Amino acid sequence: MTFGDKRPPVIDLADRRAVAAWRPAAPEVVAEAVRLKEAALLDFGLTESAVASWIYAKCHHQIPTTAVATAAVVASGDGSCLLLFNPDFFVALGLDGVKFVLFHEARHLVQRHLFVEPELRNDAVFELAAEVTINHVALVRLKRAGLPERHGSPVGVDPAAVHERYTRDLAEHGLDPLPYAAFVETDLTAYRELKRMKRPPVADHICIHQQTDLQMDQEAVDAVVSSALLNTLLAGGRGHTGARNEINDLMNRSEGGERASRIWGSLGAGSLRGRTSATRRVDWWQRWFVDVVGSRLSEGERLVYPKKRGAVLAALGQDPIMARRGPVREKVVVFAYDTSGSMPAHVVAWLTDLVGRIDRVRAHWLSFDAVVMPFQPGERVFGGGGTSFQAVADYVEGRSEVHGARFEEQVDAVVILTDGHAPHITPAEPDKWIWLITQGGDDWPDRHHPQMSCHRVTTGSS
Ligand SMILES: [Zn+2]
Repeated sequence: MTFGDKRPPVIDLADRRAVAAWRPAAPEVVAEAVRLKEAALLDFGLTESAVASWIYAKCHHQIPTTAVATAAVVASGDGSCLLLFNPDFFVALGLDGVKFVLFHEARHLVQRHLFVEPELRNDAVFELAAEVTINHVALVRLKRAGLPERHGSPVGVDPAAVHERYTRDLAEHGLDPLPYAAFVETDLTAYRELKRMKRPPVADHICIHQQTDLQMDQEAVDAVVSSALLNTLLAGGRGHTGARNEINDLMNRSEGGERASRIWGSLGAGSLRGRTSATRRVDWWQRWFVDVVGSRLSEGERLVYPKKRGAVLAALGQDPIMARRGPVREKVVVFAYDTSGSMPAHVVAWLTDLVGRIDRVRAHWLSFDAVVMPFQPGERVFGGGGTSFQAVADYVEGRSEVHGARFEEQVDAVVILTDGHAPHITPAEPDKWIWLITQGGDDWPDRHHPQMSCHRVTTGSS
């Protein structure tokens, strides 16, 4: 998916090294383009688009390269996505233009995820409808009066101009055109209306995605976008109004799509609007947990994001650390269950079942009060007096013994199920700790420094 350019790629865009080595731009241009890109993403995270911010957070590699004429998101070989951007193009656009283009590209990924139906995807009129609605949303959301300009000429499809052409075409054939606002209301209304034209405008206008589409792997797009939507939903649920509005708007715009409603239903997005999906029970904490554990257990060395990106993620209340690929080894997860709280059996049963379905994971189950006691799922656990998170940390970090033995393994994740009522701790590796807090409990790890992954579980009967 490249913005506003028809030139076929000169090299394999999924090949990171080839892309980075291709005819490099002048170092000062590259530096300025990178600065613009970072500034744009910071604004997205803080105010303008939580979805775009999350999507680019999941593009592990962001490469300035002249191998693309504009900007493109492509799938890399390892199933993740790459952001490629032409440094001269970004510098010519300036910050506002860069934001427009990055927002536009992110929306294409969302579109591709929500409307994967082949009869739509291969339809040039739907492509144009997407250009129209994406640019309309970008103009509104980024508060712009017009398209970005490069050397004085506008870049991309102008939704108002397309609407004008549509109005003229329909009027010439005695049909009633929709006013602009209704025309751009959803992706499918724009599509349906363009189809009413005698000769819908296509190829000569649109930002060409077909060539690079060949390199887009739908699975990679789905993984990146569904994670971005989930995190935006969660941020919305936690009171981030920008995230909440954006998701609501996206749901409205994708109305009428079969796959889109399925996706919104399975994400439990209806609960943002006070309705629950008819098809399944909404348990956000479970979706959150799968995402968080997934990122802890994915392969490879850990990399910390640069400071600005960290600030973006921190603004959304998220952990700024992400895993990278590397050699495969068995992962170790410790589940520690606070016997002083009231944890219904179905929560433990759900966790046990989940762990059973993850490949190459070894789980250790501990119960704890003031001391730590290993147990097997299904066994009854009994609690004594007091609660100590420090007892769990001491054991997991190899400082204390249980039944005369130390815990020798290197953990990848520590999951604590608790009501949170006990002295606070800072573990040696806080980014590995995931706290599940029962209803009515204290979610202090969320406000702790350093902040730890933390979510309330629904402990009502189900
Ligand atoms: Zn486009």
